[in-house]
Amino acid sequence: MVEDNMTQEQLKIVTWPAPVLETRAEEITVFDDGLRAFGEAMHATMRTAHGIGLAANQVGVLKRILVIEIPWDGKRYGKNGERRAWHDQRYTIVNPEIVEQEGVITFNEGCLSFPELFGEVERARRVLVKAQDVDGKAQVIEGDNLFAVCLQHEIDHLNGIVFINHMTKLRADAIRQKLGAP
Ligand SMILES: [Zn+2]
Repeated sequence: MVEDNMTQEQLKIVTWPAPVLETRAEEITVFDDGLRAFGEAMHATMRTAHGIGLAANQVGVLKRILVIEIPWDGKRYGKNGERRAWHDQRYTIVNPEIVEQEGVITFNEGCLSFPELFGEVERARRVLVKAQDVDGKAQVIEGDNLFAVCLQHEIDHLNGIVFINHMTKLRADAIRQKLGAP
């Protein structure tokens, strides 16, 4: 893609523990060039960090916007299963709300705010999300499998929930201790 050759603004990723990661982000009501530029900077930051999803809380901004791009050709995300419509799609999702969910999937998740840490989390296998795009236009997004996991993980961030909250207390406590959190 052309954009790979362009200099793009990089945002600083906040690592846990940090209050901004455990605070609910606010609804977006202004859809302007600033929001569009912020969405682009989030994409650039996520790509540089080799992430597949990023929520605004993770760059210290308490606004309800997240980005997702799951590469099909990546070693981690493309080898198992079939190529889906959501692979290699660049999603910029504003004010998302899960309106339907079904099934169960367990996935070994990672998070850019918890470097080097992975853990199994159980979530819905399919979700339907009502949201807006950066222009304020309504969009409905259906996700299954890894895309559903990603949507739920990032929407959690906007609600101030981090993935260790979904792990067993024993595992979460061990992580808190290891990362020096209270
Ligand atoms: Zn995360």
